[in-house]
Amino acid sequence: TDANPSVTSWATRFVEKVLGSVDELTDLDRSAGDGDFGTNMRAALDGVTIGADDSPSAVFRRIADGYLGSAGGTSGALFGVWFHQFDVALGSSGVTTDALADAARDGMAAIVDLGGAAVGDKTMVDAIAPAVSALESARAQPLAEALRSAAGAARSGADSTSDLLGRRGRASYVGDAARGVVDPGALVVAWLFEEAAEAFG
Ligand code: ADP
Ligand code: MG
Ligand code: MG
Repeated sequence: TDANPSVTSWATRFVEKVLGSVDELTDLDRSAGDGDFGTNMRAALDGVTIGADDSPSAVFRRIADGYLGSAGGTSGALFGVWFHQFDVALGSSGVTTDALADAARDGMAAIVDLGGAAVGDKTMVDAIAPAVSALESARAQPLAEALRSAAGAARSGADSTSDLLGRRGRASYVGDAARGVVDPGALVVAWLFEEAAEAFG
């Protein structure tokens, strides 16, 4: 399928945002985990190049491969299977609200399958689940509108993690120290949808 300039811009903005925030992400994981999250994100995305001619499927395949092939940590595997579903859904049906809703729904299923987290466990799932619900209710809406609503939902979900104690992953080892700290995985998910809303808006 053909390159989609909005998808290219979305992915480029996302990669730049994460690579420009490595220190912030490291600090969050230092407070609520083991401090390697920023390094894991840099390892995943540093070598990812997105060309103007890449199809949406190819764009997300590169990102998924970066996470699965180059990142350490739990988040590498989880974001890897998440972005793989964007490759699959956008490759088969083009860039539509329905395809993005399918991608996010199937991506969340893959993450939950692998990691077993539920909403409230202080993980990326706290941002993903509300974004999936928002996209499911927005299937009949234009993409820009659907993504704005997904971005708002993901941001609220990410913000909600600061009040939570970790029950999954490393945040579960640090107890009360995790309170008041936003989960870095959830924050990256909020950025993903916020950059989408910008690129498609
Ligand atoms: P590690 O915990 O192995 O050091 P990272 O630091 O790379 O892994 O990733 C931590 C992030 O991964 C957390 O911020 C959280 O969002 C996410 N995470 C950890 N465990 C899970 C899980 N079981 N399900 C979903 N997300 C998880
Ligand atoms: Mg970590
Ligand atoms: Mg680690």
